[in-house]
Amino acid sequence: MTIVVLTGPPGAGKGTQAKVLAERLGVPAISTGDIFRAGVADGTELGARVKQYLDSGEYVPDELTNEMVRERLSADDTHQGFVLDGYPRTLEQVGVLDDLLAEQGHALDGAVVLEVGSDELVQRLLARAAAQHRSDDTEEVIRHRLELYTARTLPVLEAYRTRNLVIPVDGSGEVPEVNQRIIAAAALLS
Ligand code: ADP
Repeated sequence: MTIVVLTGPPGAGKGTQAKVLAERLGVPAISTGDIFRAGVADGTELGARVKQYLDSGEYVPDELTNEMVRERLSADDTHQGFVLDGYPRTLEQVGVLDDLLAEQGHALDGAVVLEVGSDELVQRLLARAAAQHRSDDTEEVIRHRLELYTARTLPVLEAYRTRNLVIPVDGSGEVPEVNQRIIAAAALLS
């Protein structure tokens, strides 16, 4: 059983590295952002409820996010553990995840934090905006997402740091280099 949170600012490469980390640990990567975006793309009820938040770069309300995660974590593929990408993002979500894991007699093994400097982040997000046309990658929305990360998600990292759960990983540079650093971090977790 390995339960890991992968976190870091928008543009840090969480999606890419969550997959590498999860494969290494032999567990699924679960991305709240991907699940929300898939809901929007498929026109599901969840998608309709979250679209406005995604487009404006706001966090989806905790209640809705927590409900979705609770349901996803009850699926059969999570029995050996999972890597959570993009959750928890608020202190409220930290508490809900703790309770959920405790109900099952489990606990978090670590919180991997992908660290990238702010200049490189903005550059990457603008490059992605040009390449992928993600609705939340406009300059104004990017700025707002970075602000929200500082205001609401840095306290999450602080909470995990206090609990000695944080494993920092340098997320700067090219993808293959970061892959190697993530694989080194995985060795500390399994
Ligand atoms: P990024 O980290 O680059 O912003 P994500 O794919 O992780 O990209 O998230 C995209 C959007 O999905 C967020 O801006 C937010 O609207 C929503 N979202 C994802 N995870 C959460 C969460 N844990 N709580 C609230 N909103 C979330």
